[in-house]
Amino acid sequence: MDYLSERAKQLHQGAIRAMFDKSAGMDDIINMGIGEPDLNTPVKICEAASQALKEGKTHYTPNAGTLECRQAVAAYSSIKTLQYDPVSEIIITPGGMGALSLFLSVVVNEGDEVLVQDPQWLNYVSQIQFFGGVPVPVPVRSKECFVLKAAEIEKRITAKTKLLMLNSPNNPTGCVIPPAELMAIADIAKKYDLLVVSDEVYNTICYEDTFLSISMLPDMKKRTVVINSLSKAFAMTGWRLGYAAGPADIIKKMTQAQENISACANSAAQAAAVYALKHPDFAETIRDEFVRRRKIILAALDAIPEISYCVPQGAFYVFPDISAYGMTSYEFCSRLLEEERVVCIPGSAFGVCGEGHIRMAYTCSEDELTEAMRRFSRFCESVRRG
Ligand code: PMP
Repeated sequence: MDYLSERAKQLHQGAIRAMFDKSAGMDDIINMGIGEPDLNTPVKICEAASQALKEGKTHYTPNAGTLECRQAVAAYSSIKTLQYDPVSEIIITPGGMGALSLFLSVVVNEGDEVLVQDPQWLNYVSQIQFFGGVPVPVPVRSKECFVLKAAEIEKRITAKTKLLMLNSPNNPTGCVIPPAELMAIADIAKKYDLLVVSDEVYNTICYEDTFLSISMLPDMKKRTVVINSLSKAFAMTGWRLGYAAGPADIIKKMTQAQENISACANSAAQAAAVYALKHPDFAETIRDEFVRRRKIILAALDAIPEISYCVPQGAFYVFPDISAYGMTSYEFCSRLLEEERVVCIPGSAFGVCGEGHIRMAYTCSEDELTEAMRRFSRFCESVRRG
């Protein structure tokens, strides 16, 4: 008897985890594969959680999260000028992924088309499909620094298009959509009455300009759901703490969905989040660390003649073009792993348009990164020599 649902049968292990598994059991691995800071959560944030536990905050919280945590989100960072109502317009979730999946579960009908850039973080496509939607890839190109273009979005709009997914700063490309293009995208969303989900989990890691959310552009708040999380900003991936801010009717349904799925986010993690969100300087220190690491990796890539790349404007990924070596990105990453014990992710894992590139996460320590780049350069040289 086959008990699995048709939906479950569509689920597959993603290429990032697969690469990770491939490296398991190998010695002396340097991992540039997984999008997770090696830094530990700042101690003061851990202490806030520990204090909360000692005070008996060991219970369920409201489905939308504690009011204190929602208030801290409303008062935090880039979206605070939008004055979201913590009672009706914010939900605390298990990670940004929790927010994204709850969101998709309440807006996607079978067959709805969802525009999502290609290459893109691979979980989007599986999540959309899992909830019955149809992902429609919108190519972004290295010659345009991977900026998502309003004109490319418009070309792909049909009567079935409901939703546009944005992720800036972007995983895997490091692109931050410039304000002028963001405005053009907002105009398209308004023209075709699209809902927008803006995944801003990397918004504290911007290198050039301060972050601008599409929700802040004129008339966009009412058609945008902002997703964010403490994972990257405060090095809190394991705490599973994220949130969504958006129109009350959508947030209400997400809260009812959460009631039936996980009840609420972890209560101690919510207490930790309240502390973290009130101390944005932690996120700045973490960003500064990535500024240093970015310098190291870009300097090493500059010294390899066959490699070109777009300078990452945000997040902690660089997505160099490796096509000059005449291998697929999968072959390149497999050989790099076998010959030099460095884990990178093939660009093809992020969509058809990712082929010819690899994703390198500069999430390991400066020493490890320096060693990884030494090995990487040696690998490129050995391929060059044949
Ligand atoms: N969005 C993007 C673009 C990501 O890269 C990630 C994590 N890799 C997430 C969302 C989810 O992060 P989390 O669930 O840890 O908040």
